Amino acid sequence: MSVSAILLGVAQDGGLPQPGCNCPNCAAARANPALRQRVVSLGLVDEAAGRAWLIDATPDFPAQYDALTARAPLAGVLLTHAHMGHYPGLLWLGPEAMNARGLPLYATPRMAAFLRAHAPWSGLAAGGHVTLVEIAPGQEVALSPRLRVTPVAVPHRDEYSDTVAWLVRSPSRTLFYCPDIDHWRAFQPDLRAWLQRVGVDIALLDATFFSPDELPGRDLTQIPHPLARDTASLLADGDIEVAFIHLNHTNPLWRPGPERAWIEAQGLRVGAQGDVWRL
Ligand SMILES: [Zn+2]
Ligand SMILES: [Zn+2]
Ligand SMILES: [Zn+2]
Repeated sequence: MSVSAILLGVAQDGGLPQPGCNCPNCAAARANPALRQRVVSLGLVDEAAGRAWLIDATPDFPAQYDALTARAPLAGVLLTHAHMGHYPGLLWLGPEAMNARGLPLYATPRMAAFLRAHAPWSGLAAGGHVTLVEIAPGQEVALSPRLRVTPVAVPHRDEYSDTVAWLVRSPSRTLFYCPDIDHWRAFQPDLRAWLQRVGVDIALLDATFFSPDELPGRDLTQIPHPLARDTASLLADGDIEVAFIHLNHTNPLWRPGPERAWIEAQGLRVGAQGDVWRL
């Protein structure tokens, strides 16, 4: 019996294709449904406990719920922050759909306060569909005897909530799930040293953009993310297994080509929906 993590999607908040976009990636995905991509989310499964958890409730929640609960029943949801790719799926827990009863919803105090204060989210706790479990950044919580999780505060555009990544620890391995961060330097100037110090074996990291050329007409200083090519340079040829996640629809890493080949030449890879890691 073991503990595992399963990647349930790879895309940035808007998915792929995005409405109204005819960039090469969106056009290809519209023409070929096999190229469509769900918004990033991670499932955690403890087979011995017969329980599963979902990190982030995305707009693709129904399909991701099915993919995860084929392995074990859902025992809780963990949130990173209040941007559109990461929590709207909570609505399926409410009375219009699943009518869940007391499902644990793990969030930072600020994220929990946001959910309590604003409809329609406020109805989920008030109606008893979820039970908010507040975890301060840095505080470790045991989900099961073999699975411990810790929210890690990260710098991001915190308009509505703060933002966390999650450390997931089994007795033998540690996974770091970080879909959104503005940049590494304000988090940990030496990312590789921090990952090693914390004991991370597997890092799933924000790769929203590969290069700054991807969004003509949008000011990237208003939507900062570490560039995948820069992150790859920080972590190339190391002991940590790296999979890039949270790819924007414009990202050249979606398709075979020189950018993807370069990432793989660094000993890194792009995450794929359905990836499973034994923890
Ligand atoms: Zn996001
Ligand atoms: Zn597009
Ligand atoms: Zn975000």
